[in-house]
Amino acid sequence: MVNGMKVAVNGYGTIGKRIADAVIMQNDLQLSGVSKVTPDYEALILNKIGTNLYVPEQNIKKFEDAGITVSGTIPEMVNSCDIIVDATPGGYGTKYKELYQSAGKPAVFQGGEDANMVDLSFCAMCNYELVSGKKYVRVVSCNTTGILRTIYSLRSFGIKNVQVDIIRRAADPREIKKGPINSITLDPVESPSHHANDVKSVMPDLKIVTRAAIVPTTLMHLHQMTIKFDRKTEKIEVINALLKTPRIVLLSSNSGVHSTAEIMEIARDLGRKRADLPEVAVFEGSINADGDTVLLSYAVHQESIVVPENIDAIRAIQGKVTKDDSIKITDTAMGIKRGYLI
Ligand code: NAD
Repeated sequence: MVNGMKVAVNGYGTIGKRIADAVIMQNDLQLSGVSKVTPDYEALILNKIGTNLYVPEQNIKKFEDAGITVSGTIPEMVNSCDIIVDATPGGYGTKYKELYQSAGKPAVFQGGEDANMVDLSFCAMCNYELVSGKKYVRVVSCNTTGILRTIYSLRSFGIKNVQVDIIRRAADPREIKKGPINSITLDPVESPSHHANDVKSVMPDLKIVTRAAIVPTTLMHLHQMTIKFDRKTEKIEVINALLKTPRIVLLSSNSGVHSTAEIMEIARDLGRKRADLPEVAVFEGSINADGDTVLLSYAVHQESIVVPENIDAIRAIQGKVTKDDSIKITDTAMGIKRGYLI
């Protein structure tokens, strides 16, 4: 048995299952169990792979009737771990916080929760050190994480203001009830979209506006960013800054890659687990520098981008590992790259 902090994942969906996998990959963490509410195929898989499964007390019989072995209730899971990662649907984490508090356990929440319900909203590169002494941390959403990493990478040029047009995927690949399936939908009609405020929950002084539209795809989000700097900036400086930032990869101009479909195919071809791409994927050819203004486009894999952030949030709460070390340990264990992807 690996020694380390015992992590429980409440909510084994798109994000929760990936966090559970990532915890198992870390030498300093161990997965004590995960929770589910419905006795479906994912619960059967958990039994097959030998992961402890916890369920709401009132659902135990349903699981047992479906032939699924249960290790206990969700409160028992909470009591038997050192830290909880809450990956329940948006809004549920706020309800669960009381349970975590009464058990005296720290917790990491996801971007679907309100920023006000935690001590700090989190993006590893931007504010790891500020977690010191805090118990309740929220990893910001996938889109916000993509924006923050990119801004962080280019911050040394002096940022005057940022505009991001966000083209959002309609659903995750495993979802069967969400849309639109034949529309481009403004989300919302008004601007700015909520993403600007979410970015400010981590970088309060940044001048940023965001707009968002949903399109019928499940693969990735695409961001088109315009940044105004304090000074004239050269394209090569932008490329060099992006190349040296962890968790950002470039799709070289000569690769010919110009779509999210091709990026996901690259993840499959590279043998990435679940075909995930937790890095921000910047199209090198999209970078345009004109005086103090830079345009660039990048893709965000919504299913996986926040996963390494959750692992760092756990270590930040534990308070024993520095930011740079945590990012390095997480990225090495998960095979996350920087530099040219292709
Ligand atoms: P999901 O619906 O795929 O998974 C949620 C899981 O929680 C499911 O397994 C569900 O059965 C379980 N669940 C539901 N009610 C529960 C309860 N009462 N107790 C315990 N478990 C319960 O959701 P998701 O997409 O993984 O999102 C989880 C969080 O991550 C949300 O806050 C979301 O905003 C955020 N997030 C999602 C994405 C994404 O693109 N999917 C990206 C970044 C962040």
